[in-house]
Amino acid sequence: MERIILTADHSLMTEFRNISLFGFFSCSPVQYVPELFYDRLFAPLVPADNGNARYAQYGLRKVEASLIKAFGRKSVVVAHPRYLSYFADDASIIGLTVMDPLGIGPVTSSFAFGTGLTPYNRKKFMDLLKTIRKKIRCRVIAGGGGAWQLVDKDLVDHVLVGEFEKDGPEVIKDIMDGCNRKVFKLEPPEPEEIPPIVGPSINGLVEVSRGCPRKCNFCDPTTHRKRDIPIEQILKEVRLNARYGQKSAWLHAEDILLYRCESKNFEPNKDAVIELFKEVMKVKGVKSAGTTHCSLAGVVAAPEIIEKVTEITGKGWHGVQPGIETGSPKLIKKYMKNKPKPFSAEEWPEIVEEAISILNRYKWLPACTLILGLPGETEDDVLDTIRLVERLDRFHCVLAPLFYVPLGALRTKGKMFSIKSASPEHLRLIYECWKHNLREFSQGVWKGTSEMNPLFRIISSLLVKIGSREILRRLEKYLEKCAS
Ligand code: SF4
Repeated sequence: MERIILTADHSLMTEFRNISLFGFFSCSPVQYVPELFYDRLFAPLVPADNGNARYAQYGLRKVEASLIKAFGRKSVVVAHPRYLSYFADDASIIGLTVMDPLGIGPVTSSFAFGTGLTPYNRKKFMDLLKTIRKKIRCRVIAGGGGAWQLVDKDLVDHVLVGEFEKDGPEVIKDIMDGCNRKVFKLEPPEPEEIPPIVGPSINGLVEVSRGCPRKCNFCDPTTHRKRDIPIEQILKEVRLNARYGQKSAWLHAEDILLYRCESKNFEPNKDAVIELFKEVMKVKGVKSAGTTHCSLAGVVAAPEIIEKVTEITGKGWHGVQPGIETGSPKLIKKYMKNKPKPFSAEEWPEIVEEAISILNRYKWLPACTLILGLPGETEDDVLDTIRLVERLDRFHCVLAPLFYVPLGALRTKGKMFSIKSASPEHLRLIYECWKHNLREFSQGVWKGTSEMNPLFRIISSLLVKIGSREILRRLEKYLEKCAS
C-alpha cells in the first residue's frame, strides 16, 4: 500500500529535555558543541514505536491530521527520522516540515556571527536529506515556517509555502498524480478548516491562536491574520497529549495575551486568557501549563493575567518569548507602531523594563529578541537600545540580538544584516547582550534542571559554564578584530 511519509530532522524531533533554553543548542555551531553532547545530553530524539515517532513536531501533526481527513488514516505515517527505512518500500512521497533548514534564519545567523560555521539545524537537515536519498526512492516535499529557504535551492522536489490545512491535501494529490511544479503557495485556512491533531505533539504543544494582528513591518505577512482556535478544540488536543503521557500543556500563540481579544487598542481579554489556563489545568493528567510567546505591552496592560496564570499553573521558573526589537521609539513608530499598544511608542523603553520586572516577579524568564540593522537605523537608535539593554542587566532574561532579514512588508527594502556591516555600536550591543546571556545561561541551567538526575545536572551545568566562558572569550577576540 502506498503511503505518505511525514517526518522532520533531529533538531525538530526532540523535546530538549523539556528545558526551553536547550532549544538554543540547535543554532549553535557543530564546530563548538560536540555532536555526542547535542544528541545525547541536550537534544535526545523522541522515542520510537515500531518506526513511528511517539511525539512529533506540532506542525507535522497538523499536516498529518489534514492528510488523514483527506486520504484516510492508513495512508499517512509520521515516521521517526532514525527509522525511515521501515517505510521505504511503501512510500509514495515524503513530506518534511522545516523551520530553519539552512541555518540562515535570524536566530541562527546571529549565533554564528557571520563566521561561516555550520549550525546544528542545518547539519541535521542535510543529514536527513542524505538518509532519504540513500534509502528511499520517492519525491520529497518540504513545508513549514522555513520552507522559503528552499525555494531557490535544488535540495527537495517541491516546496509548499504557507499554511497547509486548506489547500495542502489537494496539492499533495496533484503531486502524487505527477504534477512537477516546484513551488506552491498555500492560502490560510479559517479556524473551522484547521483539524485537531490526532497524534501527540512534542512538549505537549497546542496552538491557541494563529497569526498576529500587531503587523510589524519586518514580520512575515503570513503571520498577520489572527485566528483564535475555539477552546473546545484546544482542550481536545490537550486531552490527547495528556493521554499519551504529556504532563505539561504548552500553549502556542504569537501573543497569548491577545487570545480572543477584540479590542482595537490591543487591551487583553483577561477573562478569556485566565479561563483558558483554568480549563487546561482541569484536564486529567495535566500538571502544568505554559506558553510560547507574549507581548511586553500586554504584560504591562494586564499584569493580573500573569499573576493569576502563575497561581493557576503553579509553575516555577519557566521561559516565554517576547520581542523587544529596539530601544528606539523612532524605529518603533516607523516599523512596528502596534507593538507598544495600548501604550505609545515614546513609552516603549519603560514598558519593556516594567514588563520584564513583572514577569520576573512571577518567575517567568523572558527570552527577548532584538533586531539589528533595520533599514534606516542610525547610531542614535542603536545607542537607545544599548541603554535599554544595560538597564535590563539587573533582571533575569535572555537577550537575543538578531540580524535583520528582509521579510514582510520590508521584503524588498534593505539588505540582510550581517556582522560585516556592523558598526562599533552594533558590536557593543551584541557584546552586552551576550555578556548578560552567558551569565543567565550558567545560572539558568542549574535552576532549569532542578528536577533531573543530579549527575546530569552537574555535567550539563559544568558544560554550559565552561562553554559560556569560551564563547565570551572568543566573542571578545572576534569583536576586537572587527573593531580594529
Ligand atoms: S508582535 Fe511579533 S509576531 Fe506580531 S507582528 Fe510583531 S513581530 Fe510579528
